[in-house]
Amino acid sequence: MMHIGIVGGGQLGRMMAEAGAGFDARFTFLDPSDSPCAALHGRHIQADWNDNAAHERLVVDSDVVTFEFENIAAEVVTRLAEDRPAFPPAKALATAQDRWAEKSLFRSLDIPLPPVAKIDNQTDLDAAVAEIGLPAVIKTRTLGYDGKGQKLLREPDDVTDAFAELGAVPLVLEGFVDFDHEVSVIAVRGNDGETRVWPLVRNEHRQGMLHCSIPEPGHALQPLAEDYANRVLAELDYVGVMAFEFFVQDSETLLANEIAPRVHNSGHWTIEGAVTSQFENHLRAITGLPLGCVERLAPCAMLNVIGALPERDAVLKVPGTRWHDYGKAPRPGRKIGHITVLAANEAQLGERIATVERLLVNDLG
Ligand code: AMP
Repeated sequence: MMHIGIVGGGQLGRMMAEAGAGFDARFTFLDPSDSPCAALHGRHIQADWNDNAAHERLVVDSDVVTFEFENIAAEVVTRLAEDRPAFPPAKALATAQDRWAEKSLFRSLDIPLPPVAKIDNQTDLDAAVAEIGLPAVIKTRTLGYDGKGQKLLREPDDVTDAFAELGAVPLVLEGFVDFDHEVSVIAVRGNDGETRVWPLVRNEHRQGMLHCSIPEPGHALQPLAEDYANRVLAELDYVGVMAFEFFVQDSETLLANEIAPRVHNSGHWTIEGAVTSQFENHLRAITGLPLGCVERLAPCAMLNVIGALPERDAVLKVPGTRWHDYGKAPRPGRKIGHITVLAANEAQLGERIATVERLLVNDLG
């Protein structure tokens, strides 16, 4: 039996625990909230993220430690790693938490990215706008997610307003990318350095939040995406699952947007749609088990359920659907579930996605 400690008790931890059932794994979750949704599948230590005594209780319970929540201090992972193997490495977390560090990493590995500048004051911003031009996107360097902490700047007036709104914290300015579409790849690296990359996924966002992910095996950009992913994984001496988000420009250019050092929303389709899910391969990687096959099993898609649940039975009546209710209280803009849609062919998949989309009552806030 293996014991796994997870920092964070949200839906990602919950789905990790569900994947661990086949290995008879036991889970302990550290999470400050009253009843995090993962607590259904393990022991819950309710404590602050930085609580040293809670970290000690977590490691005592665990053979290996991981995290599913990205906004913990990287030092927490460093500290946990002194007592138990802790993956992914703290360095990967620290890099992903700081957009400037992340973009500097892409640049150092010759991975193309949108024009970007570091902004610490109004002078930096004026110089960056002069160099990069408008439209541009200003983003907080840390703690941004789901499109939060960022603003599109269209005209010179927006530049002054943006600084007043976001300027109290370190920022970056990025050139606005007129992309064809957004894609991501989910990759896993074992502690022996072996990597596997699931088929590239086409993502559609609404109000900065992921709406739909569709894997596209055989995509012309798969080899390039894998090459970029492998460079980052090797550089960070990574163990576990990592997500890579890209913009596709002019059909053939991949521009790196961001990395997530964890299982990722755009990989949820792998639960039913791939031979091995991202959750299972993450567990296999961090516990030193052989990695599983990442092939897609059938045409499929993942649709997010945000803010409000659709009528469950109506969704279940659509052939090929699988229902995932995270058991979280609905709130505008909150991810509370997802639906996987499976089909026999692409045309049927398109029809089923359209049917499920008509049933969604998402409230993005
Ligand atoms: P992020 O938090 O950086 O992933 O941004 C959230 C979403 O905002 C992305 O998935 C894109 O849809 C959009 N976005 C972010 N940065 C840019 C950019 N430089 N150009 C165009 N759209 C962007």
